[in-house]
Amino acid sequence: MKSTSKYEMIQHILTALKQPAYRFQQIADAIFKQRINEYDRMTLLPKGIRNELIKNLGEHVLNLTPVMQKTSKQVNKVLFSIEGGEHIEAVQLSYERGWKSYCISSQCGCGYGCRFCATGTIGLKRNLTADEITDQLLFFHLNGQALDSVSFMGMGEALANPNIFDTLMILTDPRTFGLGHRRITVSTIGIIPGIDRLAKEFPQVNLTFSLHSPFDEQRSELMPINNRFPLNDVMNKFDQHIRDTGRKVYIAYILLRGENDSDEHAEAIAALLKDRGPWEHLYHVNLIPYNSTDVTPESFHQSDKDRVQSFVSILNSKGVKVTVRAQFGTDIDAACGQLYGHNK
Ligand code: SF4
Repeated sequence: MKSTSKYEMIQHILTALKQPAYRFQQIADAIFKQRINEYDRMTLLPKGIRNELIKNLGEHVLNLTPVMQKTSKQVNKVLFSIEGGEHIEAVQLSYERGWKSYCISSQCGCGYGCRFCATGTIGLKRNLTADEITDQLLFFHLNGQALDSVSFMGMGEALANPNIFDTLMILTDPRTFGLGHRRITVSTIGIIPGIDRLAKEFPQVNLTFSLHSPFDEQRSELMPINNRFPLNDVMNKFDQHIRDTGRKVYIAYILLRGENDSDEHAEAIAALLKDRGPWEHLYHVNLIPYNSTDVTPESFHQSDKDRVQSFVSILNSKGVKVTVRAQFGTDIDAACGQLYGHNK
């Protein structure tokens, strides 16, 4: 069910109070420029408006409660409690030269059951609201942190949650977060109707496709979604997306030792991405080292360095663009596939 975001609520309240249009911008500036978290401290507003905001929305702008933070050299992972007593996680990555990137959650848990993923072990508790998703970023912003780029690679499958579209509206609204569309990445296991809607409504937002095996049978085994949206159908959809938008599509591939890191796999990825058409150079493969957790159900292991190297060489030799992602945050379970909302 769609819930009204706090930003829409503020607008409704101002309309009901017959306030001039600039009032919304004053409130947005208080939150996003002055980083004020309490409506009562927005002293530019008449007291009556502040009271009305507090009555309807509570004292604080931020509605998520941070319950634990874990920090390592470049990574800061925050555990939030949400309504219903559940937990979600967000991760801040700090790159050299000061770039701050965020990996945020779109669902509490996840119902897709990919075998290598810690979040999948929880099952789907529920979709997050647009406020719960944007508040993960608002938390960092109110704490004085810059928001340079955001990816929906935390807990959950973003395109399975319809609230993601309201979320993107809020994040790209120049009056509030004002994030450029190209600073946002949506990651998907291949939910075709969601890819269609994203291409229509937010064509400039980056898309990452979690491939993890170029072989249909193995992919279905690792990622049951492949039975519903088979690889070839998803790839055809991405071809169309690239043709329509002229944007790159990133292919995420977690390397699992002895499972999907053989030369045959590398060759099959190259075969999958070549001879698709004049747009094929817009596919870019990101290889991700596997991270295990205490709860991941299967005992997968990270690929050896020389295996990764020969995988890369094969892709390079076939003209496929490939990057090996740097590994961040494994020591605090903040790397890809490691978020499962525990607080130990
Ligand atoms: S990889 Fe993504 S879609 Fe699959 S179980 Fe994990 S969170 Fe869900």
